[in-house]
Amino acid sequence: MGSASGNELLIVSEEICQKIVGRGDAFKAVESVFGAMSRKDAYNFPVVREAIGHADALYGFKSGFDKAGMSLGVKSGGYWPGNMAKGLSNHQSTVFLFDPDTGRLGALVGGNYLTAVRTAAASAVSIAHLARKDSKVLGMVGAGHQSQFQLRAAVEQRDIEKVVAWNFHPEMLPKLGAVAEELGLPFETVEREQLGAEADVIITITSAFEPLMMKDWIKPGTHIACMGTDTKGKQEVDVALVAAASVFTDEIAQSISIGEAQHAIAAGTLKEADITPIGEVINGNHKGRSSDDEITLFDGTGVGLQDLAVASVAAKLADEQGLAKRVAL
Ligand code: NAD
Repeated sequence: MGSASGNELLIVSEEICQKIVGRGDAFKAVESVFGAMSRKDAYNFPVVREAIGHADALYGFKSGFDKAGMSLGVKSGGYWPGNMAKGLSNHQSTVFLFDPDTGRLGALVGGNYLTAVRTAAASAVSIAHLARKDSKVLGMVGAGHQSQFQLRAAVEQRDIEKVVAWNFHPEMLPKLGAVAEELGLPFETVEREQLGAEADVIITITSAFEPLMMKDWIKPGTHIACMGTDTKGKQEVDVALVAAASVFTDEIAQSISIGEAQHAIAAGTLKEADITPIGEVINGNHKGRSSDDEITLFDGTGVGLQDLAVASVAAKLADEQGLAKRVAL
C-alpha cells in the first residue's frame, strides 16, 4: 500500500491509475498474488453481490488479505445498466486499502481501469505459464470493453502473428480490429469453427449464458482462457471441452461455483480435485502443460486479491510520484 504518513489518506483517481499502472506492473502483481494464494499466504473473503432494488443495479464487495504483499482491503462496486445513457461506464468500482497493522484506511483507489487491467493480466499470466511457446494465432471470442485490454496483454506473451475474432454482436468487432491494427497485427473476423481451427490461444470474454466454443472445434495443444464467466449461470464453452482439458484457475472455490467449471462439475464430467490453481504452476509445484497436444484451460473468475494487488501498486506509484491527493483523516 502507499505510505501516507500519520493520519493521511491517499486518493488515487481513475485518471492517475490509467497513467501510472501499466500492463507489466499488473502482470507482476497478479502473478505474485496468485502465487501467494497457493502458498496460503493470501486469501479471499466470501464475495457479497446483491441486487439493490434500485436503478436495476447489482452491488457488492470483493475483499481479502495478502500477507506476503501486505494488502488488506475491499473492492466495492457493481453494475449499473443505465449508466451508459449518462455518459458513465456501467461497471463502477472503488478499492479501499487498509493498513494491515492498524486497520487505518490508507487509500481510496479508482477501480474501473484497474479491473480491466488486472483481468487482462490474469489471462496473460495463464498464457505465459500454459500456452505452447510456439503459439502464433490468437483467437478472440468477445469484443466488448474488456476485450481490448485482453488483446493487448495477450500478444505480449507470445510471438503472435495474427488475430482471429468472433463476436455475438458483429458490429462491435471493428473496435477490436482497430486495436490489432494499432499493434501491427492482421485481424480477421471469422466463424467460431474457423476460429477454433486456427487459434493456438483463445480468450473468451463475453456475457454469454450458453456455450460458444465446442470441444470438436479446438485444435490439440490449444490454450483457452475463459474470462467472461464470473457469475452463476454464465457459460462460454462446451462442458465436453472443459472435461477434455487440463483445467487451471485463479481460485478453486470460485471456479466450481461461479466460474466456467460450475457446469462441468454439475454435469459430473469434472471433479474439483481435477482443477489446479495457477499459483501451483507459478510456484513450481505443478509442471503446467505436460505435452504439445494437451488442451489447457484457464478458468479466470476474478478474485478480490487481484484488485487489491493492482490498487496497492497504484497507491505506491502515485505516492512516489506525488500524484495522489492527500487528505487528513
Ligand atoms: P461488455 O458489456 O462491454 O461486452 C459484453 C460482451 O459479451 C460483448 O462481446 C457482447 O457481444 C457479448 N455478449 C453479450 N451478450 C451475449 C450473448 N448472449 N452471447 C454471447 N455473447 C454475448 O462487457 P465487458 O466489460 O467486456 O465484460 C465481458 C464479460 O467479462 C462480462 O461477463 C463480465 O462480467 C466479465 N468480466 C470478468 C472478469 C473476471 O475477472 N473474470 C472481470 C471483468 C469482467
